[in-house]
Amino acid sequence: MSQVAARRPLRFVILGAGMSGILAAIRLRKEGHTDITIYEKADRLGGTWRENTYPGIACDVPAHLYTYSFEPNPGWSRMLAPGPEIQDYFERTTDRYGVRPLIRFGEEVTSCVFDDSRWTLETAGGTRDQADVVIAATGVLHHPRIPQLPGLETFEGAFFHSARWDHGVPLDGRRVGVIGTGSTAIQITSALSRRVAKYCLFQRTAQWVFPMENPYYTDEEKARFGSDPACVEQTREKLNTMMIEGIANAVIDADSPAMKAIEDACLQNLEQNVRDPVLKEKLRPNYRAGCKRLIISPDFYDAIQQPSAEVVTEGIARIEPRGVRTEDGRLHELDVLIAATGFHADRFVRPTVVRGRNGLDLDHAWAAKPTAYLSVAIPGFPNLFLLNGPNGPVGNFSLIQVAEFQLDYILQLVERLRDGSRREIRVKPDVAAAYEARRVEAAKKSIWSTGCNSWYLDAQGVPASWPWTFAKYAETMARPEMSAFEEEAR
Ligand code: NAP
Repeated sequence: MSQVAARRPLRFVILGAGMSGILAAIRLRKEGHTDITIYEKADRLGGTWRENTYPGIACDVPAHLYTYSFEPNPGWSRMLAPGPEIQDYFERTTDRYGVRPLIRFGEEVTSCVFDDSRWTLETAGGTRDQADVVIAATGVLHHPRIPQLPGLETFEGAFFHSARWDHGVPLDGRRVGVIGTGSTAIQITSALSRRVAKYCLFQRTAQWVFPMENPYYTDEEKARFGSDPACVEQTREKLNTMMIEGIANAVIDADSPAMKAIEDACLQNLEQNVRDPVLKEKLRPNYRAGCKRLIISPDFYDAIQQPSAEVVTEGIARIEPRGVRTEDGRLHELDVLIAATGFHADRFVRPTVVRGRNGLDLDHAWAAKPTAYLSVAIPGFPNLFLLNGPNGPVGNFSLIQVAEFQLDYILQLVERLRDGSRREIRVKPDVAAAYEARRVEAAKKSIWSTGCNSWYLDAQGVPASWPWTFAKYAETMARPEMSAFEEEAR
């Protein structure tokens, strides 16, 4: 019997048809696995790019980097691609690799229970399924954080969260308020401030803004990308070096010269591009650049200096039928109020109920905070792997690259199940705990620990991120250290 024939066919269930779920299916098929189902609760794939459709949405990671390594896209229109182009890319790629028939749309997995070396899954619609391996590709920033604002229910205009954009609400020539100054609100500001009669940006915390230009690719460039794969590869290399050396490796060391260079560029952007001294002081952050996720925008300062625009720094006292009353007693009359207030960044996989070995509940395992060994494996939960799980690299760089590294790693673990001699693989609790302790210690040196509030921080105020270099990540994920895992023989 050939070695391949002796292999045990494995059944896979992937949770979520976003960027990483699609990636998982493509790569599993490439490895010869055929028994794969992706459960997707929505009626469309795309994850974050399906859900976020706000005006101005773009990826602030250069497009040629935010692309599967095996599926270049010569047609990206500009350096930082608009959201709808990214959504199209995922739709196209899904079809090109024949993954769409594997997706069960409109099926939300409500529970995954491990018993006798198999996972049993149930969906909200009553489907029951089983799998040898579950890959949770459920995303990081998925559950909108809606602010508890007194009087919100009395507002007579339209109110929605940025990730639930109501495209039926007209905006042109109207009075629009946006709460928040994260990457989302900044992009909305650039897109809207010129279109509306009045634009109020309710700012609780000022942001450092890194001025990266966003040029269009010319038709000649796109044609060259299409005809010469080496040209795309060179572009990726160049962008990769720029993002890794310029940002990813800088943020892990608050005292690094690269971090200083980022701060200088942000400061210069503020000093040179905001004219009114009062506005300049409103927009000047009182914490270090990069502590919160760095805002990348070529034109935010220009947009916020439009005659229609105002930065409101007074706290929001309450919402009234006609608008937002701030703590100084002023009423900001609005037709539309948008909460660009971010997401619950610690709800990985949940609300799906997940029970591992001996009934161990994921909510219980993660009672203090979500953790996972190298972001991919959780002690007590065999044959369950995460893509873009807790504490992974989340700086301003490509989560597609990160997911590809993670998948390479997971596929090597899966291979040990496929050879038929083992039925379970799980990370050792002591190894996972020691890793987490090292990670927490190293994170203290990062820029994220220098005194600001952000979604990068966990409930204990520790940065929930990979705190070492990108190269170290690539090296660590290249080959699993098998002594970190326990295996159950068949
Ligand atoms: P975010 O970074 O968490 O920002 C939320 C904003 O809302 C903050 O300014 C926060 O103020 C404010 N806020 C929250 N609750 C508030 C309240 N009750 N009252 C007043 N202000 C309140 O969320 P986001 O902008 O949606 O971005 C989340 C992440 O998504 C980004 O960091 C990034 O990773 C990703 N993203 C990426 C892109 C991209 O181009 N790749 C684009 C958009 C988003 P404080 O700062 O004071 O807490």
